[in-house]
Amino acid sequence: MQPPAAYDPKIRYVDFDAAYDGPVVDSGEENVPGVYMEKIVVCELCVKNSAELLGLENVEEVQDQAESWRGYAQHIEEEIAEKDKAIGHLAYTVGVLLDTPVKRPKGRPQLRGPESHEDEIKQMRSQQAKKERAKASNGANGN
Ligand SMILES: [Zn+2]
Repeated sequence: MQPPAAYDPKIRYVDFDAAYDGPVVDSGEENVPGVYMEKIVVCELCVKNSAELLGLENVEEVQDQAESWRGYAQHIEEEIAEKDKAIGHLAYTVGVLLDTPVKRPKGRPQLRGPESHEDEIKQMRSQQAKKERAKASNGANGN
C-alpha cells in the first residue's frame, strides 16, 4: 500500500501493484502539468463503495459487536461463579440450621424458604421433627 503522488493523508490507499497505461488527467490548476495515470491506486472509500456494490459487508462493525459480546459473556460468567459460591455458602448454612435447629423466638414467624423449594423444606422439617420425636422417646426409654 503506497499512496499516490497527490493524496489525502487522512484516507488509506490500496496499491494494486499493477502497471496501467492510463490517460493524463488535467491537474485542474494553471501551470500545473497533468497527472499520468500509470499505476492502479484506489482510495479506501472507492474500495468500500465497490465492495458494497458487490454485496460485501463492512466487518468492522460486526467485529466490534462480537468483541462487546465477548466482554459481556465474560462478565456473565464471573457473575455466575459468584452466585454459585453464594449458593454453596447458603446450602452449608441450611445444612447447619437443619443439624442444629434454633428455637423460634416467641412471637416471631417461622422462617420461610423460597416458594420454589416449599415442598422440599416442608419435607426436611417433617424429617427433622420425626428425628427429634425418636430421640425424645429413646431418651425417655433409656433413662
Ligand atoms: Zn477513491
